[in-house]
Amino acid sequence: MPENILIAIAWPYANAEIHVGNITGSYLPGDIVARYHRLKGNKVLMVSGTDSHGTPVTIAADKEGKPVEEVYKEYHNGFLELFQGWGITYDLFTTTHTENHFRVSQAIFLALKENDFLYTDKSMQWYSPSKKRFLPDRYVEGTCYICGYEAARSDQCDNCGNVLEPEKLINPRSKEGGALELRETEHFYLDLSKLEPNVKDFLTKRQSYWRDTVIGESLRKIESEGLKPRPITRDLDWGIDIPVEGWTEAGKRIYVWFEAVIGYLSATIEWSALPQEHRDDVSGGAGDTTSSAEESTNRDPQHSKSRQKEAWREWWINPEARQFYFIGKDNIFFHAAWWPAQLMGAGDKFLKIFSPSPLPSPAGEGESLTLPYDVPANQFMNLEGQKISGSRNWGVWGRDALTRYDPDALRYYLTVNMPEAKDSDWNWAEFVARNNNELVATWGNLANRVLSFCYKHWDGHVPTVDESALRPADLDLLGAIENGFNTVGAELEAVRLRSAIGETMKLATAVNQYLDLNAPWRDIKTDKDSAALTVFTALKAIDSLKILFSPFLPFTSQKLHGFFGYETPLFGEQYIEEIKDSLGTHNGLRYRAPSALTSYPKGSGGSSSPQDVSRPEVEAWKPSELKPGQKLNQPGPLFKKLEESVIDEERARLGK
Ligand SMILES: [Zn+2]
Repeated sequence: MPENILIAIAWPYANAEIHVGNITGSYLPGDIVARYHRLKGNKVLMVSGTDSHGTPVTIAADKEGKPVEEVYKEYHNGFLELFQGWGITYDLFTTTHTENHFRVSQAIFLALKENDFLYTDKSMQWYSPSKKRFLPDRYVEGTCYICGYEAARSDQCDNCGNVLEPEKLINPRSKEGGALELRETEHFYLDLSKLEPNVKDFLTKRQSYWRDTVIGESLRKIESEGLKPRPITRDLDWGIDIPVEGWTEAGKRIYVWFEAVIGYLSATIEWSALPQEHRDDVSGGAGDTTSSAEESTNRDPQHSKSRQKEAWREWWINPEARQFYFIGKDNIFFHAAWWPAQLMGAGDKFLKIFSPSPLPSPAGEGESLTLPYDVPANQFMNLEGQKISGSRNWGVWGRDALTRYDPDALRYYLTVNMPEAKDSDWNWAEFVARNNNELVATWGNLANRVLSFCYKHWDGHVPTVDESALRPADLDLLGAIENGFNTVGAELEAVRLRSAIGETMKLATAVNQYLDLNAPWRDIKTDKDSAALTVFTALKAIDSLKILFSPFLPFTSQKLHGFFGYETPLFGEQYIEEIKDSLGTHNGLRYRAPSALTSYPKGSGGSSSPQDVSRPEVEAWKPSELKPGQKLNQPGPLFKKLEESVIDEERARLGK
């Protein structure tokens, strides 16, 4: 029975270029886990988008002298380009500036209000008399009253990490210049103290399998400091209207921290409303596929359309669904404490407000929203021993790196160096060494050497051997590789990706050792039958390793898949779709499942039960079933060896 897996990835702010630290922190691990579950035949939905609201974006717009909308779209479109280049396969990467996200966020707000988890209170806020407006936190800087750091924001100190009270800031100054005064302002607060027992219970239930770093930054922090109320509105004119009369007119909007996390839910709902592409409609175009996809199970187009629109429930009103949140360590509390509190506080009121006449939920359970299953947050990645910094140009930037390196070479290094338990460091010498010694020498050469040898000596075909004649050493190797689907799979299930790729590379080493011992290049002259058995065994092992490596190295795995002569792709493809609503047009990055790219036999990878309409996939996470005599395609190298000179060239770019 396929599982519903939601892969929820951090929303990048529309004010900075994405660097390798961001990529290894959340986007890449999310994509690896999504690809693994797709190969397993699970129903995966991977969502995120650009965080278009909030002061980082308005500050960037002020600085560039452009409308906020223009600035967020520039960054957003850059992100789409980057994710396509790196193969980060979102089912939908959208933005928070959509009509749908506004509606969903307002419904969560109202549900919390009706459930009595909101109250209003007055506080002091910095005000600019010359601009005649309140200045949001990031517009005011001063000295931290806790640690003495001189460039603290009025609401938070980036040095000691504490949340600050604006009126206590020492020596406050406006980033725009001009005088400042404290004035009283009124805001809505989420009463998190009321929800503290629920959040503690939620975390305690997950303590046994969550990363210790994440439990430390959530459960243990709440145990020592408690959960305090937090404002969810602010004085700003860019953002989501407050669904209470008079508040928007007073120049207030929903606070970005409160609405951006709601994006995981709203993006899923937006995805449900978009046209879908499935295996049953491969002959048709992309436009009217919602109804044709359902023809096999239901011929009433109106009914099927509304059911597709409700497909989001499979990940959100379903206690069996598993949600994974991929974020950096600075976002742990948002996702492990505040976000579950929002979901629990909204409860079943959300559905009543958002969608008053719903269809029954798939599991037939209560109508509460599904809570996070895991928050496998990563630590940070530094660069050559220093913090990555945009202002000092101390970084390896995602789009720029792709102009000089292949995506799988970058993905490999970021996976073996992923900051899962502690901060890690990008080092150019290590990048070159691991590319050349592991990716090229251990794995790439293995695949290329065996395929080329076979292609040449067996006339472009897999040797026609009798599989019952395989010798103990052949069977031992294939048994070890087969077991890799369990061991590597278990590591991927638990989001231990460094260990998962390390296990896989060890298996590639085992194949190299097997070839050294059995030397088909020697046997070919004296005993071609023996060489055939060795080559067949090695090819079968490589064909399996291709699957084990594919969540990490999707581009080269697909290439290798083609050398083996397979026509059905391993993964689907990404594409950009223009989406219109009352706020205008935004581009969404989407994913077309492999089943929509080719005509698989019906029924493969699961039945055609009604639930399958949302994500039909084909199960591929299993050992190779390579057939003797299978026709191969002309093989070639998978990876490029890098010159040592790369190290100095790259280091010379830093800090310029
Ligand atoms: Zn401080």
